[in-house]
Amino acid sequence: MDFDLIIIGAGPGGYVAAIRASQLGLKTAIVEREALGGVCLNWGCIPTKALLKSGEVYEQLHHLADYGLAADKPRFDFAKVIERSRKVAGQLNSGVGFLMRKHKIEVIEGTARLEKGSPAPKVIIAQKKGGNRTLQAKHVILATGARARTLPQIGLEPDGDRVWSYREAMVPKAAPKSLIVIGSGAIGIEFASFYRALGAEVMVVEALPRILPVEDEEVSTAARKAFERRGLKFRIGATVKRLSKSKTGVAVDIETGGKAETLEAERAIVAVGIVGNVEDLGLEALGVKVEKTHIVTDKHGATGVPGLYAIGDVAGPPWLAHKASHEGVHCVEHIAGEPANNLNAPIPGCTYSNPQIASIGLTEAAAKAAGRKVKVGRFPFKVNGKAIAAGETEGFVKTLFDDQTGALVGAHMIGSEVTEMIQGFALAMTLEATEAELQATVFAHPTLSEAMHESALDAYGKVLHL
Ligand SMILES: Cc1cc2nc3c(=O)[nH]c(=O)nc-3n(C[C@H](O)[C@H](O)[C@H](O)COP(=O)(O)OP(=O)(O)OC[C@H]3O[C@@H](n4cnc5c(N)ncnc54)[C@H](O)[C@@H]3O)c2cc1C
Repeated sequence: MDFDLIIIGAGPGGYVAAIRASQLGLKTAIVEREALGGVCLNWGCIPTKALLKSGEVYEQLHHLADYGLAADKPRFDFAKVIERSRKVAGQLNSGVGFLMRKHKIEVIEGTARLEKGSPAPKVIIAQKKGGNRTLQAKHVILATGARARTLPQIGLEPDGDRVWSYREAMVPKAAPKSLIVIGSGAIGIEFASFYRALGAEVMVVEALPRILPVEDEEVSTAARKAFERRGLKFRIGATVKRLSKSKTGVAVDIETGGKAETLEAERAIVAVGIVGNVEDLGLEALGVKVEKTHIVTDKHGATGVPGLYAIGDVAGPPWLAHKASHEGVHCVEHIAGEPANNLNAPIPGCTYSNPQIASIGLTEAAAKAAGRKVKVGRFPFKVNGKAIAAGETEGFVKTLFDDQTGALVGAHMIGSEVTEMIQGFALAMTLEATEAELQATVFAHPTLSEAMHESALDAYGKVLHL
């Protein structure tokens, strides 16, 4: 037996699972075909946040007078903005390398596939340095992640030049003057926010009736207004019929409520969803069940094939780094026979646009659809002292409590720094807090978080500053 555990894919699902496995005394190897840290550290969560920070600072420079400040005409060096984002990604990628060495996890660079084996499938690795290596472990975890969905039949396929997926959108040679973003989920909205902050004319096309469709409807509506104030444009309920390329840009034919229109821009970003990396792994021969490009597992990540597990993006939504890591830790603890972390813990979701959006638990519509009666509280940042002092008064906090038990069932926020604040509600929901505990908690003053407190008070008619 070569290893206790082999993990395929070193994203936040795989590398975190490897660390936990090593802590539990499992002899562990991890196979990665591209870069340690996966999409998250190299092409997703981290480099986008670096870009967004540059965009946010640049945008703020245009409002210096609001703070009694002045500076020469703001400008940016696009190459340096991109270089900074790549450096940040590189630093974190090296950090994962350090963690693998620290925990004595063998990193094998190459592309893995599986064949029948016992007690788990055999892992065959086409190594980057050349040659195949065949390994047998007691357990194998697939953490191969996902990639951008494409629709080549209507031209929604990145060409690396005028049509981008998130990868090309992260490292272009020049900032586009005009851009069409197809899809208004978190990824589409973050790129739209970044390029708009740098001054591009940005049009976002969304097939559903509202932007950020997984968010609470009130947040979606407020987000659209806030983005429109910054000059973003939207076509909502609009179906893309075809994207075609011209010498200088792209033309996107859309249909909105039976009305045809052609949008034109220098570049387009395709952000229409995610497909799991399930190909060329030998899954079919092993009888692994795949549905809608994702591996079907039980709650511990087991695929039904002895010794084979799947976690993270490849095991299905929500496609979030922290969900991947949480599943990875759970799966390894289960394998090691340890009490495993709680998979029922609610998973927060964040969009790092300007303003930011963060949520956890049920939306009001989902609570109603599930037949739950809820008490709803709201509190706007425009009357929060810290928000006024910071000049960041957009947005609000909305909380939902079960009418019978007082349990916090959902929290939805839009505004400055709400992606940091959501953790307060994540903790409250994980500890099964009720309105009474949230109301009895002392929130520091002055903080944006006081709006969380006020929202919980408002749900019960006790709001103080409205
Ligand atoms: C632009 C963008 C922004 C994002 N922002 C956020 C965010 O702010 N917050 C958040 O939570 N999530 C965000 N995400 C999603 C997040 O990146 C993913 O949910 C997360 O990376 C999933 O982790 P994973 O470990 O399942 O897979 P991945 O990170 O995709 O890692 C899988 C790894 O497996 C490797 N691999 C695949 N097949 C093989 C093989 N056969 N052999 C060897 N190696 C293989 C791949 O090279 C890859 O490195 C973002 C995604 C994108 C694209």
